[in-house]
Parts: sequence; C-alpha cells; structure tokens
Amino acid sequence: SDIANSLAASIRAIHDYPKPGIIFRDITTLLGNAKAFRQAVDELVRPYQSLSVDQVAGIEARGFILGGAMAHQLSSGFVPIRKKGKLPHQTVRMAYSLEYGTDEMEMHVDAVKPGDKVILCDDLIATGGTAEGAVKLLRQLGADVVSACFVIDLPELGGRRKLEALGVEVRTLVA
Ligand code: IMP
Repeated sequence: SDIANSLAASIRAIHDYPKPGIIFRDITTLLGNAKAFRQAVDELVRPYQSLSVDQVAGIEARGFILGGAMAHQLSSGFVPIRKKGKLPHQTVRMAYSLEYGTDEMEMHVDAVKPGDKVILCDDLIATGGTAEGAVKLLRQLGADVVSACFVIDLPELGGRRKLEALGVEVRTLVA
C-alpha cells in the first residue's frame, strides 16, 4: 500500500550494524519524521480502536516510544517491559532467547490485572524470541494478550509464526 511504502521509505537501513553482515533497521528516521510518526501510530492503533484495550505493553526501548503514543491514542494505560534490574518495585521475570544465548525481561507484578486486555508493541519482530517472552510474562500475570503489533516484520526469521502458534494475532506495517 501507499502508507506501507512511505513508512518503509522513512526507515533507514544501516549495513554491518551491530556486526558485519547484519542490516539494522533504524526507525529513528521514522520517529523524527512528523508525518511518518503520526502515520505509523495511526496505523498501529487502527485495528484496536473499538476494543476497549486496558493496557499497551511496550518492549524496551523502542516499544516504549511507539507503545506510549498508542496508549495515548487508545486512552489505555501503558506498561513497560524492561531488561532485568531496571524496575524499582517487585517484579516477575522471564528468560527469552536471543540470536546467541538468552536474556531476561521484567514487569512489575501489579502492572496488569487478571483479565486485562493487553496489546503488545515493539518496533520490529525478527525471530520472535523477545515478543514470545513478553507474551509469556503478560500471561503469567493473567493478562489477555489480544494482539501484538510491530512496525517492521522480518518474515524470513519466523517471528510471526512463533507468536501465532501461541494464539496471539500479529499485525505489522512494513515487511
Ligand atoms: P527477535 O527477538 O529476534 O524477534 O528480535 C526483535 C528484538 O530485537 C526487538 O526488540 C527489536 O527491537 C530488536 N531488533 C532486532 N533486529 C533489529 C533491527 O534491525 N532494528 C531494530 N531493532 C532490531
């Protein structure tokens, strides 16, 4: 679509970052483009407008920027899912798989209530390991993870299938 094309054009590709052979999708150029930023957030929230979403959960760090804007537009709360050791109150923790090895993410124990309707948000889905960890963490607290959304999909890495296998609907804007 025209919107997908203009959003794709606003995203910068950085070759050999963070390692040789990797093409890093840099959304700072999208965020810095007023029209593209608004368009991206409008497109991300569109399917959820009529759902009475309780919380948007954003994955550190770029998921905070997009998810915060989504939550404002949906009149929902916002929940940060952070790297371990960053949150001040009591947390629940979940290991998740990275390309090489694992890491852990955390949420405050009282960030969502059982039955809360939650949308997960991040800038990009690749293998889906990060988002899978976030879904498991949210579900551990009883949240109803209605959908997960991302600006960018790297479909060849299988993240969408991984989340769909968990029963989570996936929406992305640019492949
Ligand atoms: P996954 O767990 O393999 O799906 O990787 C997704 C996570 O890594 C997300 O939190 C992304 O922000 C980050 N990530 C991976 N590749 C890129 C990229 O090319 N640009 C921006 N973020 C990326």
